[in-house]
Amino acid sequence: MTGTTQDDYTDRYARRVRGMTTSEIRALFAVASRPEVVSLAGGSPYIAALPLDAVGEMLNQLAAEQGASSLQYGIGQGTVDLRERICEVMALSGISGASPDDVVVTVGGQQALDLLARLFLDPGDVVLAEGPSYVGALGVFQAAQAQVTHVPMDDEGLIPAALEEAIAATERSGKKAKFLYTIPTFQNPAGVTLTDERREQVLDICERAGLLVVEDDPYGMLSFEGEAPRPLRARRREGVFYVSTFSKTFAPGLRVGWILAPHAVREKLVMMSEANVLCPSAFAQGAVTQYLSTMPWQEQIKVYREIYRERRDAMLTSLRDLMPPGTSWTHPTGGLFVWATLPEGLDSKAMMPRAIAARVAYVPGTGFYADGTGRSNMRLNFSFSSPERIREGIRRLSGVMEQELAM
Ligand code: PMP
Repeated sequence: MTGTTQDDYTDRYARRVRGMTTSEIRALFAVASRPEVVSLAGGSPYIAALPLDAVGEMLNQLAAEQGASSLQYGIGQGTVDLRERICEVMALSGISGASPDDVVVTVGGQQALDLLARLFLDPGDVVLAEGPSYVGALGVFQAAQAQVTHVPMDDEGLIPAALEEAIAATERSGKKAKFLYTIPTFQNPAGVTLTDERREQVLDICERAGLLVVEDDPYGMLSFEGEAPRPLRARRREGVFYVSTFSKTFAPGLRVGWILAPHAVREKLVMMSEANVLCPSAFAQGAVTQYLSTMPWQEQIKVYREIYRERRDAMLTSLRDLMPPGTSWTHPTGGLFVWATLPEGLDSKAMMPRAIAARVAYVPGTGFYADGTGRSNMRLNFSFSSPERIREGIRRLSGVMEQELAM
């Protein structure tokens, strides 16, 4: 029978599942995907900018000429060819000398985060993460029954003194944080970037405290203003787990990401991935390898940077021109997102149904905190919609906010 909400299995669920609830926001997103709604809610790259005919030809060839391996099972760690290409990609961001042997290919960055959570987290363990942080990572930590302590950011990213305080507070509570989960570059959702100076400070603090670092870097190559600061992993080898993905530089539909791990733990990650997915898709890995080897992928990234910069500018200009007084927002220099703070008294979660009725969607800030805060914030995406649609979306959004303020 369809349409029933009755769940007769609740008593049988594992403990880790019991806290999971379907969010009402998810239902609203189904409506938000209607064409008349300007969705500033998603996190999708602008795939239409890819040379889809050439990619199609490449995929045909992959099946026709390398089908015996690309349509077969593969090895748990991922193909050697792709791991070699990944090391070349990382070298472009400043991570030099990485060995393909220390790379584990994953089903997107998401599986990479899941594997690291399985590797390190017992129920009740503490993870430190920026506040706000990536919703998918918070889901992983929740499934691992870990407790997330948020560390605040400002325009220069994570605040080092606040990190020290969070470490100390965790110790005072009789616990020790297992790792810092951080997105230092073009953060999702805040759109801010940790400065060079703070990168060194954060690494020093973590090293002194014996805290591992999980560095999540999907957006580092999508810079609009010069090169992004070098990743944390480029500065420190030990204790830093580097996670990235081809979702934002090529295609999220292929689900290919990776972890660069210290050699000692690489084997454990592979074993856990095998238990989890046997092996990442050989076909998807072949597609990424071919793309990196035979197509002008770095030129394509320049195309993305141009498109996203124009859209970011459209969003920032519209926000400046249209938002009611008392609203503030971040000024990202790369990536996909702006983080807005609403005027006193507005609640982004409560306002969402009215925004949908006005045919505009965003993600309420509450999704990005493990502790239910974030009601005065929202995440706005600028990668997917055209500059005209972005302007129209911000116009509709400001109209909804004006109405709320008048109530
Ligand atoms: N980390 C961050 C910070 C992200 O924004 C995303 C995707 N939105 C991911 C990880 C996961 O990406 P994927 O699984 O598509 O590689």
